[in-house]
Amino acid sequence: MARVVVIGGGYGGLATSVRLAKLGHSVTLVESADAPGGALRPVELDGFSWDGSAHATLLPAVLRDLFRKSGRPAERELELEPLDVIREHRFEDGTRVRLPGGSRAAQLAAFDELGPGLGQHWVDHVAAYADDWEVLRKHYLENPWNPAALPREAAARLDSREMLARRLRRTLKDERLRLVAGHPFVAGGHHLRDVPAWSGLTAYLEQRFGAWRVVGGTGEIAAALTKRLATRRVETLTSTSAVDLVLRDGRAAAVATTAGEIDLGPDGAVVCAIDPRRLPALHDHVRRTLPALPPPMFHLGLAGPLPDHLTDLPAELVLHGDPTLVVRTRGRAPTADGAAWTVHSYGTLLEDILLALARHRIDVRDHVVTRVDLGAAELVGRWGGSPLGVLWAGRRTVRQRLGPHTPIENVYAAGAHATPGAGLPYVGLSAALVAQVIGPA
Ligand SMILES: Cc1cc2nc3c(=O)[nH]c(=O)nc-3n(C[C@H](O)[C@H](O)[C@H](O)COP(=O)(O)OP(=O)(O)OC[C@H]3O[C@@H](n4cnc5c(N)ncnc54)[C@H](O)[C@@H]3O)c2cc1C
Repeated sequence: MARVVVIGGGYGGLATSVRLAKLGHSVTLVESADAPGGALRPVELDGFSWDGSAHATLLPAVLRDLFRKSGRPAERELELEPLDVIREHRFEDGTRVRLPGGSRAAQLAAFDELGPGLGQHWVDHVAAYADDWEVLRKHYLENPWNPAALPREAAARLDSREMLARRLRRTLKDERLRLVAGHPFVAGGHHLRDVPAWSGLTAYLEQRFGAWRVVGGTGEIAAALTKRLATRRVETLTSTSAVDLVLRDGRAAAVATTAGEIDLGPDGAVVCAIDPRRLPALHDHVRRTLPALPPPMFHLGLAGPLPDHLTDLPAELVLHGDPTLVVRTRGRAPTADGAAWTVHSYGTLLEDILLALARHRIDVRDHVVTRVDLGAAELVGRWGGSPLGVLWAGRRTVRQRLGPHTPIENVYAAGAHATPGAGLPYVGLSAALVAQVIGPA
């Protein structure tokens, strides 16, 4: 039984730990906070509970696969529900569209309401990603890739010079459609001119498989996996930070932590599930990359009753403008008529968030009974890095990201900073890729 030390207990580290433990490895998880969960840990105050970061996930199959392959099926521990409306976009000209999930026909109808022919433009744009998905899932997303020997069809996509901003300008003449298509990347902290066109396949995943939320919040995923650490006998060291890898003859021999060195033994391995910039032994290998930064976040605890037009909001509302505001409405409130919202702000916020919301006719100033404001630096400090992974800086970024392998033979990379990137589906895939390359004990 080989020893594997997993560094970082966010979703990436948790998923990797339970998978490897099920494969028979002796796993030690090192987590700097007082409990695992990372960005999935909820924020709680005065009886309100808000998702710490993610509120929903694409590709529920990735989550189901993780739970099945590391113990009991997800349905036995989590309640997953599809979102009828993934998000509502409100544009500066007063028009709006509710983006339905999991249905081409419903998306066609929704975009047709914005103007004649726009539904067809949208579904044609999305359909163009079907081949990208099939090729990349086979050679990059679901199987460990070999960057030096990529099949031509996969390399043609991953190395393409076409960026998303250009693709959207070419295929979507209506600016509102471009805003909808670009939103997941703007929300991930990126500039569309630097995001490769192929990554726009998110729109295809939304249309084909829908978006899913976990009843009770995504913190439930962290809680279920944390319980599973014990079932799978993963040794979990909390309040312990990894400070570096101890290298001998080009291999990792130990992990240096704030609680001393953890020896790996002769066949041991390390999985870095944090930003590799934070470990001096890996830092040089990612020196050309930068992290994507989270937006300022405002958790609002609202006392009801709220006006009618604010009670039937979808799970996510995007208010376009400068700043663009994203309102997530499905936190938990202590009373039935209260609400727990989280607002993310992108762009120039020059006034209080409540006033900025009120300008969009979402005036909750008289309902706020508690709030938690968190700036980007504070969030990165709280999470020990950015859960949004590596900032897209053109086509090369995909090859500059580590994972599942790293240049150090027995060191692997998972999590948002690793292949294939940030977001729960991709982070879940990164753990599956590492488990595949390490294999059974
Ligand atoms: C505002 C926002 C909204 C989001 N919304 C969505 C969404 O709706 N859907 C979606 O799919 N994704 C969403 N995401 C992305 C998703 O939350 C992340 O990609 C994912 O949670 C990252 O998991 P991770 O394990 O890679 O990182 P993290 O959760 O950041 O975990 C890293 C862990 O490592 C620990 N750590 C750090 N340094 C050390 C060290 N030196 N030693 C030991 N431990 C250490 C940290 O304490 C932390 O627990 C969102 C992200 C943000 C910021």
